[in-house]
Amino acid sequence: MLDFIRTIVAEDLTAGRNGGRVATRFPPEPNGYLHIGHAKSICLNFGIARDYGGTCNLRFDDTNPAKEDVEYVESIEEDVRWLGFEWSGLHFASDYFEQLYGYAVVLITAGKAYVDSQSADEIRRNRGTLTEPGSVSPFRDRPVAENLDLFARMRAGEFEDGAHVLRARIDMASPNINMRDPVLYRIKRAHHHRTGDAWCIYPMYDFAHPPSDAIEHITHSLCTLEFEDHRPLYDWLIDTLPVPARPRQIEFARLNLTYTLMSKRMLLELVEERRVSGWDDPRMPTIIGMRRRGYTPEAIRAFCDRIGVAKRENVVDVAQLEHAVREDLNKRAPRVMGVLRPLRVILENYPEGEVEHLDVINNPEDGEAGTRKVPFSRELFIERDDFREDPPKKFFRLAPGREVRLRCGYFITCTGVDKDAATGEITALRCSYDPATRGGDAADGRKVKATLHWVSAAHAVNAEVRLYDRLFTVEEPGKLEDFRTALNPASLEVVRDAKVEPSAAAAAAGTRFQFERLGYFSVDADSRPGAPVFNRTVTLKDAWARMEKTQAGS
Ligand code: ATP
Ligand code: MG
Repeated sequence: MLDFIRTIVAEDLTAGRNGGRVATRFPPEPNGYLHIGHAKSICLNFGIARDYGGTCNLRFDDTNPAKEDVEYVESIEEDVRWLGFEWSGLHFASDYFEQLYGYAVVLITAGKAYVDSQSADEIRRNRGTLTEPGSVSPFRDRPVAENLDLFARMRAGEFEDGAHVLRARIDMASPNINMRDPVLYRIKRAHHHRTGDAWCIYPMYDFAHPPSDAIEHITHSLCTLEFEDHRPLYDWLIDTLPVPARPRQIEFARLNLTYTLMSKRMLLELVEERRVSGWDDPRMPTIIGMRRRGYTPEAIRAFCDRIGVAKRENVVDVAQLEHAVREDLNKRAPRVMGVLRPLRVILENYPEGEVEHLDVINNPEDGEAGTRKVPFSRELFIERDDFREDPPKKFFRLAPGREVRLRCGYFITCTGVDKDAATGEITALRCSYDPATRGGDAADGRKVKATLHWVSAAHAVNAEVRLYDRLFTVEEPGKLEDFRTALNPASLEVVRDAKVEPSAAAAAAGTRFQFERLGYFSVDADSRPGAPVFNRTVTLKDAWARMEKTQAGS
């Protein structure tokens, strides 16, 4: 079924509107890195262009030089490409500054804009409230010639920042506050990352956006719901200005995710206050953070497809995003064995010095992925959690006297436990192995209840593994007075002495694996030869799939 925006686009095409063209744009402000909410907008805008044979531009809304930077421009381009999209045209609102200035002059000449010399405070106070109309500025009836003169001198740098603004002359009594003579231009001496010091007046976003859309002949200007109240102004500008096209603004609900902050401003605070290691911290909901964590563009696109596009605000369960990541990685990530908290196992009846290279399946979900050789020897590491000296009732893994399978290896039986005399801590397990179970099956049909992952002690490579949990402990951190109070102190756990099989140790940064029984992991760029670092992308426990199953069953 088509979402409501695609329904509109399809109807417009059928009706032959816009000369049969579909043109969208993604309009980020380069004042931060993109987050998963932007991914929704990217998938929507680029997806519609793709689905209807249209175009989609990347346009930077760079109208606020104080907060913007080329670093952000470059990261945004990289993120859009990484997500799998290519823009038709690359534009900057700043490229239209001269044209926008001309449009402002057109408004002044028509008596539809004026220079207001009230202070910012006065303007705010006189704007009125939701229940009371605004009051008219004493400068509202300035003659056109005086307005033209003042506006030209604003541009020429004759006035201090804040001395004047240009305002549209619409209706101070409008029930819609956005229509009460909105500010169009302000004086601001700030170096712009593209136009340098050419300008000391900058257009407001609300003024720059509609004509920018029209200049690019955008047909459907898609934005989030908070702009619904701005649509009358959008339409007023499009109707009033001599622009070359009539784009239509359509609003949709922004993506909100549980346990996730979704605001560039707040994410910037996390970065600046060093509560995370940077925009690319794998706990961040930024595209660059998710990339570093091991999320795939395919998974993010699948997630955006699945949540759909609607007009009503809601909050999506972050488990649904994690589910999409698992689903994708399950198909593509090769399996390897790695042990997070190693416990030494000594196979007492295995010959000293002998090494076997066992065939291990790379990915049971992918028949073409083949097998690899994994070294096996007398001393191994297994996961400390996989052994209990005194096992509780439903613990089926290794315990004294019990037999389990080593994945693609042998059956082993625990015959003894070595302990540190001083602390009582278990230092090693004594086990025997059954040579007749090579590959993991007993010829006599004997069954075991558990299969453990392992690495050969002599061959394993030491690794650092970074385990991530949610950055926040509450579902809607953005709604708190101070989101800092809900930061999860356990959102990062660093395991420094994990052991991984040799085949995983030399992989390039960005390579993704499933560590058997533990989760999906990706190689971090901090890795050095012989000292790999892994990020846990996501565990194997799928809360979302479990929930769907329960619902289907009830
Ligand atoms: P933030 O609130 O995080 O600062 P923004 O809306 O100010 O985001 P922009 O750079 O203006 O950031 O956003 C570019 C485009 O992405 C806009 O069209 C905006 O509507 C859209 N967008 C931003 N956040 C979301 C979101 N959570 N869900 C869907 N679309 C979003
Ligand atoms: Mg914005």
